Amino acid sequence: MSGPTPEDASSSNPPVRRLADWDADRLAALADRYETPLYVIDRDRVRENCARLRDAFPDADVRYAVKAHTGQSVLRTVERAGLAAECASAGELERALAAGFSGDRLHYTAVNPPARDLDHVVDRWREHPEITITAGAVDTLDRLADRGFDGRVCIRVTPGVDAGHHEKVRTGAHAKFGVPYDRAANVVREATDRFDVVGIHAHAGSGIDADGLDRHRELVSRMGALAAALVDPAAGDREDADADPITLEYVDVGGGFGVPYRDDEPPLDLPAVADATREAFETALEDADVDRDAGLDLAVEPGRYVVADAGVLLTRVNTVKPAPETTVVGVDAGMTDLLRLAMYDAFHPIRNVSSASHSGENRGDVIDDRGDRDPIPVTVTGPICETADVFCEDRPLPAPERGDVLAIGIAGAYGYEMASQYNSRPRPAEVAVGVGGDTTTGTDESPDAADPGPTLVRDRETIADVTAVERRAGYEGFAALEDPVRPAGDVSSTEDAE
Ligand code: PLP
Repeated sequence: MSGPTPEDASSSNPPVRRLADWDADRLAALADRYETPLYVIDRDRVRENCARLRDAFPDADVRYAVKAHTGQSVLRTVERAGLAAECASAGELERALAAGFSGDRLHYTAVNPPARDLDHVVDRWREHPEITITAGAVDTLDRLADRGFDGRVCIRVTPGVDAGHHEKVRTGAHAKFGVPYDRAANVVREATDRFDVVGIHAHAGSGIDADGLDRHRELVSRMGALAAALVDPAAGDREDADADPITLEYVDVGGGFGVPYRDDEPPLDLPAVADATREAFETALEDADVDRDAGLDLAVEPGRYVVADAGVLLTRVNTVKPAPETTVVGVDAGMTDLLRLAMYDAFHPIRNVSSASHSGENRGDVIDDRGDRDPIPVTVTGPICETADVFCEDRPLPAPERGDVLAIGIAGAYGYEMASQYNSRPRPAEVAVGVGGDTTTGTDESPDAADPGPTLVRDRETIADVTAVERRAGYEGFAALEDPVRPAGDVSSTEDAE
């Protein structure tokens, strides 16, 4: 599949926003103002990504996979852009409700759901009976029925086809996630006795690029064939031709649309993916002699595509250590702030955005915001006591100095969401820029207006937050511990002020 050409980047809504497209001076100023590590999320870019998805899939229901970024700044923007929400836990459902998603735009996907999640979701369903619950096991259906749930259900299927950027994100062939493909039709039929079965669902995996498109097409085609067997068993020549037809509203073929992390990777040609999806679906129905107008809609649930290139992680250099084999550049963000590199060996672009001597010159693979310094190979590492806590190895960067701000790009998806307090490190802050339709909240610069200034949307955690659960439990030792939080107003460390 040929991707859009670089010229497309000049259009008003380019298929990707590269790290080089962010204003370096603005990023450096945000780091100074809000300290580091700091996530920056651009609501305008989120809105643009939603618009491209809606344009590419005009007839499909586009459901944002909330797990990619659960912040209210993003959820409100996505809600106002007209997408639905796919939630993977009771907590995500709660956040989506808070952002204003109505029940008919809420889908809860129960993956081996803990009892507490089911209790919570079923309680919420009583208030919002249009919520749909996607279940990947008969056992889950039984547990829902035990709780008195008899509402809208979608059955998740293991289609036996997977795809994605890393083995750890491929789901489509793993028994964990759905009911086996061969048994799916029976599970759906039996479920109609107890629930309002409205759809079937499958998700191949995350980070599908042009190479994974064939797998995606195959998944769609298998799901189309299954849907055909359910809605019109008598069509074609099937063993279960005498089964009762089932009215389904939709076939959800999952998310997984990839974004380019490397500058030389072309962006996904989304319209081509959408065409391939539609075509595979319609062909599957036609092959089964089922009318395309059988009332079946397509649904997709992208997460990464909505937020990845809308986010950047800013971090400050605190240590520069020349070693025989490389120069180690220690920064104040670590794998606890952005886990993707340690978990998936993922690549993220890095740029030195410190404003002094900023030239913005692009020297091939080095974006040279520090025109006064020659690129040297550096290994950028975090403060976590793990060898995996590395953002890049031997990558050429304009020689960083202590105090410089580095920007780590394409960090909006699965960035803050996977952050942890490992090594007792507080999680970073997040600031939103742009408006993105989220006009109900003001900004730090203009609290009452829709002025696109920066807004602190997730406060930086403190050491007091890290120890809070132990203190709350009253456990001996911490119960007596004073809040180790810094006095109010003391927001900068001595070194940051240098
Ligand atoms: N839907 C389901 C069921 C998922 O598990 C995921 C990701 O794990 C997604 C959608 C979103 O995937 P992506 O962010 O790659 O679009």
